[in-house]
Amino acid sequence: MRAAAMTRYQDQLSYIDVPDPVLRETADVIIEVLAAGVCGSDLHIRSGALQDLLGAAEFPYILGHENVGRVVDIAPWVTSVGIGDSVALHPLMTCGLCPGCRSGKDTYCSRPHFPGVDQVTQGGFAQFMATSERSCVRIPDGMDPIALVAATDAGLTGYHAVKRALPFLEVGQRVLVVGAGGVGQFVLQSLNALASVNTTVIDLSKTRLESALSLGAHQVLHASSPTDGSVWKGLRGQVDVVFDCVGTAQTLSASVGVLSRGGVLSIIGGSMEEFPLTSVQATANELTILGNYVGQHPELVELIALMSESKVVSTYESFSLQEAETVLQRLAAGDLAGRAVLIP
Ligand SMILES: [Zn+2]
Ligand SMILES: [Zn+2]
Repeated sequence: MRAAAMTRYQDQLSYIDVPDPVLRETADVIIEVLAAGVCGSDLHIRSGALQDLLGAAEFPYILGHENVGRVVDIAPWVTSVGIGDSVALHPLMTCGLCPGCRSGKDTYCSRPHFPGVDQVTQGGFAQFMATSERSCVRIPDGMDPIALVAATDAGLTGYHAVKRALPFLEVGQRVLVVGAGGVGQFVLQSLNALASVNTTVIDLSKTRLESALSLGAHQVLHASSPTDGSVWKGLRGQVDVVFDCVGTAQTLSASVGVLSRGGVLSIIGGSMEEFPLTSVQATANELTILGNYVGQHPELVELIALMSESKVVSTYESFSLQEAETVLQRLAAGDLAGRAVLIP
């Protein structure tokens, strides 16, 4: 099959022939990839920056952890999906047996595979990919699978973060969403679907902020640069909950600065940067910090249900799989309005 694969860290992706995936376990599923989303994490994986965390890759390695497809082969024990079904894939392949899986928290699985991320399990920038029955969510009839691509990772992560914060989200509270990219758009819409709060979105891109307004943001704030502190100043001490979809030291310290007493910092964007927070700041203000990692399988089912009613929508731009490298470069340059989706 053809794939857009990493052949070395930092090199451009190569569009090459690689072996077809095969069924290995009794509950494996092979899908023909209908579309694969491109995520900011792909840039960090490609650069090798996450090697300490993930281990070294086995090349050629295929990125792509936001995938929808059509089932083309199933192992003998698979019963919940059949050949020809359209499926959205939960990003993790989980064991189903460990305490995390048994408690319904797939992301706590003690021996997961993470296709397109873990440097060993191949992802979806390819014509076909192997997954597990447990990862599959059947797409309701009549829904466009490609419109659901971003739900499987960016959407799931944003939705999960909002669900975790729900106990803190009281009617009329002021909520700040930092970053109006793929994840931020889902956070905003999930807030509108599940809570009744006043939302402000901050971003560097005016185009993304226009999208945020059209998706229901109450206010938007344009920062001219990552270090532009002027837009944050007016929010000092006034925000009840911040969802930081960027997660750099700069945005996190600015986010802490705008929290009211009893405020909640929900961290979604990931980086290896540290940010300053004293214990007195946290205790005197009774701050709560929520870290978020992807989302649970039932949450993906819920999100797809919301999307089937157009309560949450995904804005995306389609590209061919051959254009994967160009798309990564445009993503790095901040030159994409919504999610980029690769079509093999
Ligand atoms: Zn991702
Ligand atoms: Zn498990």
